Amino acid sequence: MNSKEISQNSKKRTHFGGAAVWFVFLAAVAAAIFFLYTQAGAVISPASQPSVTVTQPAPAEIKEGQWELVLVNWEHSLPTDWNPQLTLLSNGEQIDERVYPYLQKMFDDARRQGVFPVVSSGYRTQETQQKLYDEEIAKYREQGYGEQEAIEKASGWVALPGTSEHQLGLAADINADTFRSSSEEVYQWLAENSWRYGFILRYPQDKVAITKIEYEPWHFRYVGKEAAKEMYESGLCLEEYLAKKG
Ligand SMILES: [Zn+2]
Repeated sequence: MNSKEISQNSKKRTHFGGAAVWFVFLAAVAAAIFFLYTQAGAVISPASQPSVTVTQPAPAEIKEGQWELVLVNWEHSLPTDWNPQLTLLSNGEQIDERVYPYLQKMFDDARRQGVFPVVSSGYRTQETQQKLYDEEIAKYREQGYGEQEAIEKASGWVALPGTSEHQLGLAADINADTFRSSSEEVYQWLAENSWRYGFILRYPQDKVAITKIEYEPWHFRYVGKEAAKEMYESGLCLEEYLAKKG
């Protein structure tokens, strides 16, 4: 006991001169935290403050003749009177009939190359989106998160009802027919080739701060061949591409 106290005292004495160094170090850490906090706040705060009573963002606007470039995200809800004509896929999923031929061609070519994708989720109604959103929140609540935190976590994976691209009918979650392909094979093939058919990987890993959606290697969005090629080559996500295009 005594020897421990003594050794601690002597340590204090010998390290007393280090106090100034510690002070500088702690001040630097505090400054760094403050900097990161304000930086993050500038980008993240609009989406990190949802609550149960989230108001819908303003409806997206469609530029003349550019339905395939309509931007629906955390800032823009479905355009008013959006009422897509749908094509029923063989597994019961649906997709906008204008997009279907490109999706089918993409799948045909993938299969010819030995990669077997399936649409696991295409068009969704408001009710379906609400159900998925509620289930995702419930999942996090079961894991012990509070209401607010559960909503924030869920919103990184399932868009607020009214703001999902699935409700447009222009997006599809594409996964592997696991009897014949691995998920990795399918995701990689799509990431490299989907642009040829007018689709983009909508939520890339390095764009989470902009899209507010976690990296989803399965979610592909039709934007037309020209835009898809430009985004693939430039590495811009849809938000950045449209902002640049003006
Ligand atoms: Zn999706």
